[in-house]
Amino acid sequence: MRNVLRGLFVVWVVLAGLALPVAAVETIDLAAYRQLAASDRARGIREGREALAAGVFEDAPRERMKLLWYMGGAAIGAPDELALREVVQHLEALNANGQQGAASLAGFLRGARLIDLGQPGEGLVEVLAAANALPDDDELRLIGASELCRAYASAGEPARGVSHCQRHTRLVQATGDVAALARAYYLEASVLSLSGNLQAAIPLWRKAREGFANAGLAALAGRASGGLAVDLNGTGDHAGALEMAREAIAAATEAGNAISISIAERQEAEALLGLGRHGEARAVIDRALARMEGLDHPPTLRELLQVQREVLVAQGATPPELAVVDARIASFGSDATEPAQSGVIDALEQRYVQREQELRIRELEQENLRKELEIEAARQSAQEQEQVAREQRLMALVWGGATLALVLLLAAAGWAMSAQRRLAASLKDQAYRDGLTRLPNRRALLERVQSLVAREPDGPHALLMVDIDHFKAVNDGRGHLVGDRVLARVADCLAAGGPAGGLVARLGGEEFVVLAPGMPGERARALAEELRRAVAGLELSVPGEPDLQVTISLGVALFPAPGIGDHTSWLGAADTALYAAKREGRNRVAIAG
Ligand code: GH3
Ligand code: MG
Ligand code: MG
Repeated sequence: MRNVLRGLFVVWVVLAGLALPVAAVETIDLAAYRQLAASDRARGIREGREALAAGVFEDAPRERMKLLWYMGGAAIGAPDELALREVVQHLEALNANGQQGAASLAGFLRGARLIDLGQPGEGLVEVLAAANALPDDDELRLIGASELCRAYASAGEPARGVSHCQRHTRLVQATGDVAALARAYYLEASVLSLSGNLQAAIPLWRKAREGFANAGLAALAGRASGGLAVDLNGTGDHAGALEMAREAIAAATEAGNAISISIAERQEAEALLGLGRHGEARAVIDRALARMEGLDHPPTLRELLQVQREVLVAQGATPPELAVVDARIASFGSDATEPAQSGVIDALEQRYVQREQELRIRELEQENLRKELEIEAARQSAQEQEQVAREQRLMALVWGGATLALVLLLAAAGWAMSAQRRLAASLKDQAYRDGLTRLPNRRALLERVQSLVAREPDGPHALLMVDIDHFKAVNDGRGHLVGDRVLARVADCLAAGGPAGGLVARLGGEEFVVLAPGMPGERARALAEELRRAVAGLELSVPGEPDLQVTISLGVALFPAPGIGDHTSWLGAADTALYAAKREGRNRVAIAG
């Protein structure tokens, strides 16, 4: 009874709160904030934080979501990891409170960041999944299209981004927003250009340039001219490139952006070089280099030096003269490369993760396409349903009155809380479990192996690396769906035969690991043999289809052992043994060492 009373009291407070006039909260002009966050990121982040702290848009979740999205963009661009995390958390809280699209926006930000951090596969998966979870909402779908386009481009796969850019442009066209359309053309042109389709990019650069100029955005028009100059040079239209490069220089000079000036001057020099005006090219590139000397911007400096070298060659410079430039170019090291991946774990990780991601990306892409096609049809019926629902709500309110409202409020509060708990549980589950086989995933395995090695360094422990033989042939012969079914059956079989107190995990693809704490060598070999026989004996055939059987190869490594002192060397040794088993003919067990 006390609880019921307390519940009613809470509801009363909530209702009273609703009835009270909303206290004046500081407000913020979203359009202006968007501009600010895009141009001055640090300030955008600061002001976004202040606004959030002041409780702005507390009662307007959609506006709050937009504010967070713009702030997230600034955090990605800065980059500011902390701010990004704050934004993602806020978005997830909005999502938990039922704001549609908030989870997707958080996913876009996480994905973009992963790509920037050199994990393009994971980033793409994140972005695609976020796009697929978008609600049917024009504004959000537009964001989804541009995020997909951008993600592919920055993940080094611009060609795959093109269709999303085109969809983005079409969606923006429908809004009639001139400046946004110029931005869309700019994005599409950049991605086409990156994917090597300069002929298609050129007219879009022109449209972007014109659109920005018409919207009075001179600096952006200049950037479009610069992009156009690059592609005109690329297609051999050096006269056109020269004109555009000079326009870009003028705009960058107006904006006072030294790096942009030098980048455009590089195009001017290349155009002049293409036109055979070597002396002028030389003057321009020397000027650009002199400007860059004081600025710490190695990539641009390096590119300028390379153009200077081309000019020198065209002018017939002597080898010693060229050697001077070459030495300077060499002083920047080779092209910026990703930090070198090292270690067995990284190698394993990459091999499996890539394959998995390829499959997942393909799946998500199909889902995305299907969804886009379905959306238009779904819209029609949704509108009708909405009409019916509106009428029903009205009736409910009329008939149920205050009592019904109270009951609904209580139910909604309860639902929101349990939804949040479910969300938290499902997030944890997703992070540690493989979606197809429901086995613990690689992350779960690595954590378990690491803690085992740390807690019980004296062993003995056994680790079995398992790989299905010629699995590709199953996919190729019977299709992916059958392949998936086989994976799940093999996973079940391994899990059933796995050791008590141990762990059976899916490492990725058709590869599994059985971890057996406290298990000595002889027992491990016997266990491996048992599992091998169990899988070979699995009845996988389906009535009406040709017979189907699979076998597995296993590599067993013990811990500790000579040369095996940590989790990395342990996994590496099991992997090596597995490969020995494969080499020796498959459907067999090999022991490390
Ligand atoms: P080997 O005996 O040398 O291991 O040959 P294999 O064909 O098993 O090995 P390979 O590594 O060439 O191919 C593994 C295949 O597993 C390729 C990939 O398409 C497939 N695969 C990976 N993950 C999945 C999945 O989740 N579902 C399905 N159906 N196939 C998958
Ligand atoms: Mg394999
Ligand atoms: Mg295999």
